Amino acid sequence: MLRLRNIHKTYQLGRTSVPVLRGVDLDVARGELLVILGSSGSGKSTLLHLMGGLDRPDKAQASANGLAPSIEVDGVQLVGLSQRGLDLHRSRTVGFVFQFYHLLPELTVLENVMLAAMVDGGGPFAGDAQGRRERAMTLLHSVGLDHRLHHRPVELSGGERQRVAIARALINKPPVLLADEPTGNLDSATGAKVLDTLLALRRDHRQTMVIVTHDAATAARADRVVRLVDGCVMGEMGEMSEVAAVRAVAALPIPLDHDHVDAEAPAHRPMHEPMHEPTQSSHALQAAPSDTTTDATNATELLPPPAETTRTNGTLPLSASQGPEQILHAVRQALQRTD
Ligand code: ADP
Ligand code: MG
Repeated sequence: MLRLRNIHKTYQLGRTSVPVLRGVDLDVARGELLVILGSSGSGKSTLLHLMGGLDRPDKAQASANGLAPSIEVDGVQLVGLSQRGLDLHRSRTVGFVFQFYHLLPELTVLENVMLAAMVDGGGPFAGDAQGRRERAMTLLHSVGLDHRLHHRPVELSGGERQRVAIARALINKPPVLLADEPTGNLDSATGAKVLDTLLALRRDHRQTMVIVTHDAATAARADRVVRLVDGCVMGEMGEMSEVAAVRAVAALPIPLDHDHVDAEAPAHRPMHEPMHEPTQSSHALQAAPSDTTTDATNATELLPPPAETTRTNGTLPLSASQGPEQILHAVRQALQRTD
């Protein structure tokens, strides 16, 4: 349902570049509830905004690795969409719940929810005033706010405001829900109730959902938990996803035992596992000496000339043209041989 590849985002603060996301790869299955844990400032909001088309990934950084960024949401590739295309996609496909609610203070509760269904060209209730009103009332009933329809946000508690925001996120029946610290501004008892409401509604509608948070209680409700650490997505136990690990291995200079990884490697592999050899024209990724400090983004500078591909001791038998599975296989082979 969501598929992110090679996502980089660097902010420019004056002359300083602040790399926040450094090659995120992430898949979220249809109907899955994924929680992304990360400390404050780890890039959770940035990542969620990219998933929802509120922001765009870097192009330059990604292409330095030779891999284009890709964000697919419900079959739509967001990278390269026009602003109008992104806005339309968002209004049809994505519901957002933010930590600070972002309700319009001049509008009533009911108006705040209905407004989200009036987006030009998007959503099932565009042009259907009665339908959107009924839908908004139904949702506000579901979140327990029948008695607050004509109040303004300032007259509501934090928990009530977030319930309004949940109704607003759901009004267009989006297949994807994205929540940014949805209980982060609430006390724990109120937060737990709001989360219950949100997850119950989401279950009814079977949405795919991503919650970013630093809250362990929220993570406990997830189908799956990953962590955002140093700009990369790591698995539940702190390990990198396979694809991310492969990319890290392919990008970083790794000290290898020269005696064990050499040109003979293919002869030792099990027959049932096909090995994809580097082609004569492709470059192997050369393992650098352990005392070499090399920028990971300049991995291509480590590449030896093609003729050395299968002959140099200490060369991990990888090719830049190989896919993740092939690279992973080669890495596993190399690891087995150094045991
Ligand atoms: P989180 O949601 O995990 O707390 P964010 O994604 O909000 O993290 O921010 C990650 C880092 O990027 C922080 O150091 C933050 O200061 C910085 N950052 C976020 N947005 C911007 C921006 N628009 N301009 C500059 N720096 C930003
Ligand atoms: Mg944040």
